[in-house]
Amino acid sequence: DSVFANIVRAPEDPILGVTVAYNKDPSPNKLNLGVGAYRTEEGKPLVLNVVRRAEQMLVNDKSRVKEYLPIVGLADFNKLSAKLIFGADSPAIQENRVTTVQCLSGTGSLRVGAEFLARHYHEHTIYIPLPTWGNHPKVFTLAGLSVKTYRYYNPATRGLDFEGVLDDLNAAPSGAIVLLHACAHNPTGVDPTLEQWEQIRQLMRSKGLLPFFDSAYQGFASGSLDADAQSVRIFVADGGECVVAQSYAKNMGLYGERVGALSIVCRSADVASRVESQLKLVIRPMYSNPPIHGASIVATILKDSNMSHEWTVELKAMADRIISMRQQLFDALQAKDTPGDWSHIVKQIGMFTFTGLNAEQVAFMTREYHIYMTSDGRISMAGLSSGTVPHLADAIHAAVT
Ligand code: PMP
Repeated sequence: DSVFANIVRAPEDPILGVTVAYNKDPSPNKLNLGVGAYRTEEGKPLVLNVVRRAEQMLVNDKSRVKEYLPIVGLADFNKLSAKLIFGADSPAIQENRVTTVQCLSGTGSLRVGAEFLARHYHEHTIYIPLPTWGNHPKVFTLAGLSVKTYRYYNPATRGLDFEGVLDDLNAAPSGAIVLLHACAHNPTGVDPTLEQWEQIRQLMRSKGLLPFFDSAYQGFASGSLDADAQSVRIFVADGGECVVAQSYAKNMGLYGERVGALSIVCRSADVASRVESQLKLVIRPMYSNPPIHGASIVATILKDSNMSHEWTVELKAMADRIISMRQQLFDALQAKDTPGDWSHIVKQIGMFTFTGLNAEQVAFMTREYHIYMTSDGRISMAGLSSGTVPHLADAIHAAVT
């Protein structure tokens, strides 16, 4: 008999499992709005032209070898990533108060950051928004932090529960870590306004709460890299400390390349360099050093002003297509007189719409219309196209009537 005979089957991942179910469905009309990956109007995955160009350059450069990167990754990539999120003229970067290490996309950056905090930071409680990306509680718990939630989303208004945010953060113990989505909150598509961010900042600084930003969608919310980084930048501008996890999965379409960065902004260059020395001890036994290809693509693009510009144009086009899908879906529901207020579809931002559909309605849409999404009613707007909007509108209409 197998020594593993008594292993029980684990459930599918709630998000990636949606794609597993979708792949099994033989219907020609099936639609996958589960996973947050960008699709073209034709429903195809997109590799950006600028990424293809960078890859070509890397292939043609015969001086490139496949040696190991250092534990902290590609130096150029790390510098350029810090500039991208904190701003090219950030005093924190100029004063060498930031340590940045290349990690395995957003998830790996969150995990390394969390393991570092669990080992070296005095407060082990992290507050995450309710709701949040389903992987957050698992990443932080396994890293050794203890997870609590703060109110974030108000189902009645389908908007931000701002009072709830302030009350719950105010009640958190001094020093606690607070996870903040830098922009395009997943799954709700609801972000604080800049004024609200400023109030959150004041409250957090007055209580000594440590901000841990998850930046998985820079440029995807508004189409502007700088606008989407404002939340992070106001926390850095006050001179205080923070932790930031960046992902290039969505904004550069590098999903499977697993390229991201963890930055820790410190009070002084001396502290930053000691922090970096300890980050290496977290990374070495986990995976030794990160992969070279994706980070080289990013560095090639960010180093070159023409290529950077080309990237921002392609990024804006992705953001604009998503925004136009929001309008088209909203218009289609209006045209059908679908009961209810659907204005949140156009008000929410980023990759997802948090529809307000419940698990039963979602199951109905999957069964009757072959439309796949997470059971919390989150749909990836990036998976929609002009051609599929009517099918989705029909399904939503049928589900609520
Ligand atoms: N954070 C959030 C909020 C996300 O939505 C995602 C991707 N779904 C990630 C982090 C991490 O993604 P990745 O590891 O692919 O960069």
